[in-house]
Amino acid sequence: TKWVYSFGDGAADGSASMKNLLGGKGANLAEMASLGLPVPPGLTITTEVCTYYYANGREYPAELNDQVEAAIAAIEKSVGAVFGDADNPLLVSVRSGARVSMPGMMDTVLNLGLNDETVEGLAANSENPRFAWDSYRRFIQMYSDVVLGVDHYHFEELIEIHKEEKGVDLDTDLDADDWKTLAHAFKAKTEEELGEPFPQDAREQLWGAITAVFGSWHIERAKVYRKLNNIPEEWGTAVNVQAMVFGNMGDTSATGVAFTRDPSTGENEYYGEYLINAQGEDVVAGIRTPQYLTKRARIAAENTAPSMEESMPEVFKQLADVFDKLEKHYRDMQDIEFTVQHGKLWMLQTRSGKRTAKAALKIAVEMAADGLIDEKTAVLRVEPAALDQLLHPTLDPDAPRDIYTRGLPASPGAASGFVVFDSDEAEIMAKDGKSVILCRVETSPEDIHGMHAAKGILTARGGMTSHAAVVARGMGRPCVSGAGQLRIDGKEGVMTCMGREVKEGDIITIDGSTGEVMVGEVKTLQPELSGDFAKLMGWADKYRTLKVRTNADTPNDTATAREFGAEGIGLCRTEHMFFEGERIIAVRQMILAEDLAGRKAALAKLLPMQRSDFEEIFKIMHGLPVTIRLLDPPLHEFMPREEDEFADVASAIGIDVAALKRRASDLHEFNPMLGHRGCRLGITYPEIYEMQARAIFEAAIAVVEETGDTVVPEIMIPLVATEKELAMLRERVDATAKAVFKEKGKKVDYLVGTMIELPRAALRAADIAKAADFFSFGTNDLTQTTIGISRDDAGRFLDEYVKKDIFAQDPFVSIDQEGVGELVKIGAERGRSTKADLKLGICGEHGGDPASVEFCHNVGLDYVSCSPFRVPIARLAAAQAAL
Ligand code: ADP
Ligand code: MG
Ligand code: MG
Repeated sequence: TKWVYSFGDGAADGSASMKNLLGGKGANLAEMASLGLPVPPGLTITTEVCTYYYANGREYPAELNDQVEAAIAAIEKSVGAVFGDADNPLLVSVRSGARVSMPGMMDTVLNLGLNDETVEGLAANSENPRFAWDSYRRFIQMYSDVVLGVDHYHFEELIEIHKEEKGVDLDTDLDADDWKTLAHAFKAKTEEELGEPFPQDAREQLWGAITAVFGSWHIERAKVYRKLNNIPEEWGTAVNVQAMVFGNMGDTSATGVAFTRDPSTGENEYYGEYLINAQGEDVVAGIRTPQYLTKRARIAAENTAPSMEESMPEVFKQLADVFDKLEKHYRDMQDIEFTVQHGKLWMLQTRSGKRTAKAALKIAVEMAADGLIDEKTAVLRVEPAALDQLLHPTLDPDAPRDIYTRGLPASPGAASGFVVFDSDEAEIMAKDGKSVILCRVETSPEDIHGMHAAKGILTARGGMTSHAAVVARGMGRPCVSGAGQLRIDGKEGVMTCMGREVKEGDIITIDGSTGEVMVGEVKTLQPELSGDFAKLMGWADKYRTLKVRTNADTPNDTATAREFGAEGIGLCRTEHMFFEGERIIAVRQMILAEDLAGRKAALAKLLPMQRSDFEEIFKIMHGLPVTIRLLDPPLHEFMPREEDEFADVASAIGIDVAALKRRASDLHEFNPMLGHRGCRLGITYPEIYEMQARAIFEAAIAVVEETGDTVVPEIMIPLVATEKELAMLRERVDATAKAVFKEKGKKVDYLVGTMIELPRAALRAADIAKAADFFSFGTNDLTQTTIGISRDDAGRFLDEYVKKDIFAQDPFVSIDQEGVGELVKIGAERGRSTKADLKLGICGEHGGDPASVEFCHNVGLDYVSCSPFRVPIARLAAAQAAL
């Protein structure tokens, strides 16, 4: 078996298409090498080795060592140095790389191959002892931390003490002797911590690091990241071993990270940061503040530190050429890591760059306009769920704001919330339904859960490519990073900016689009949905076959959903209308009436109110289909609770309060979710559904007369389990229609259908379809009744179920395809076996979840219906499902 793939010098064994085997980093290093870009030579140990390693009790395949040695020999030849050689040592980095990028999850070791002898060789060869000792101490620090498990703060502490003794502030003030002293101190520290000397043998170091990378696949924070991003455990990671190039050789050397376009706005401008005389992670670690890549960005930020374009114009030009080449080749925005060694550019990584939804849209639309990609590809480039970021409010520019401090606009969007300094605390408060802003000096992978729970993230240190910024953009959380004037003291629960204190629990607002941080809450505005958004959605609509409707109960929701492109209402819940204003008294009067006459009197009051609601909704929808569900919830939801509520209802009915209370307690149910609700109400109190049907037909006729639109109401009967229930209720609706049409001397077309939300209904769909013109799968209740868990009580254990992998995801968020989905499939097939043209849709929360939308497309439903803000997400997801 080939376990090891080589790359370098304009050639490679692998290519970009081999991500599964080589990991993302290895595959792209191979591709860049083949493209003739300057890539330090190296080798990739495949993900199959990772799998083998864990499947065989942490043993490597027998041939691995020889294959690695052969590949190293090739690197040695290319570089002209020898691994472990005292006079002319080859140094390497050992880098992890899974199939998809997992920022900051896996640890990298740089400068491997250094020891007490080779450091002297490196110093002599480079004529730069400071560089050699700086590299050695970095190596000891990283290797001890990553491979040997000696925490890095030990070493940082030693550096701080040394700087204090010497009376300097910055790492750059330390010279060769300082780093030499520190390197020895580091080694001693590691020996003290472990009781064993720091490994001096280069090959022992190499295998130690390789094993640490494979081992890190199973550390906690990598697992958390995989869970959050649905990355399977089985994928494993590859390991890359690559010749070192040095950005820390002096003032003509540098290291940096860059995007070929602005990842925040999507503007077609290079975006990046670099540091002179620095190595690897220095740029993202927030130890020194990085400088801008381009002059334009530097000036826009009113920064005075020279940009790379200004300080290294030659190298910058080479870099810009590489950017263009990579974009043309990959046809996507790239996220790049590079190092400059003595004025020579080296590429260390490229991958598709993470971007905000706004940037994703803009980049997709512009690349399609430039002919770099086609419309379909553009549609596939934008993640549906990420659209959410664009549909949410931004700060009202005219609202007063009390500016506290400024940082970098690291991830756009605005958020207000309680100040929290700790990620665990953020998670706890978010669970309580509170909005929080996580405020940290800087974030690390240990903060992922807190960032996820927070509405926004604020950091005092770190640039646009810091951990906080990258992760926040990926998650769609607004983020302000590197607010340099902020002093955060998490232990004391307070942060200070120029003498002004903000305490834990105070409310602040951050604007991730401008970098502003405000004290208190600031008013927000609705987003603009024209331009790139409209264009991409137009393409999506062209390619999708699934229709998208909305769940809307009020004229207000209906209007919003229309703006978002809803093609009808899939679920209009009539009961929400019952709570408005004084209506509830009439509703209670109806429920608590002693007899039919009493109920009818109350219903007569409700009829005109319902009719006017429906008229308004039909008008907004201009002839688009509207599915109205007849009364569904258990009656106790409408019961009076307070004394004065009882008094109001008692006087409306004309009985005394005590009698009313007796009647109310008669109606009590132990399990209302499975109780007297849905069509069972229609069966026992047919006059309720008759009133609702009448209101619908009268409203439809009135609107047709007034506007000339065609109105075809779809009347939906909930919680049906048997054909008989539906047939009986349908007869009532048809009779009401007939009566209304006769009175008005006018007809409208209408449909009568049912929700499929009980397993029995799905199983008996062939019978039920005889009485139905359409089915709408009510996947919220269908999930409750199929799995037998109540949505309102599942919070207590569902998290645990997801953590323990019993459910891959919360089944109320993304449809349980194997169980609930199977019933949907059965219901659809059996229903259509009776009526080939049976209209099918879903109206649970799942209608706005991209994976569930794809499922609905695949089982052949006609439409999904979701809440207004999810309509664009569903439109895009439906298009992607069709492509
Ligand atoms: P991550 O996946 O966390 O980004 P990387 O493997 O990309 O980890 O390495 C981290 C940093 O180390 C990168 O920023 C890169 O610039 C630097 N680095 C890695 N390999 C080399 C190398 N061979 N020479 C110089 N710098 C390197
Ligand atoms: Mg890293
Ligand atoms: Mg990297």
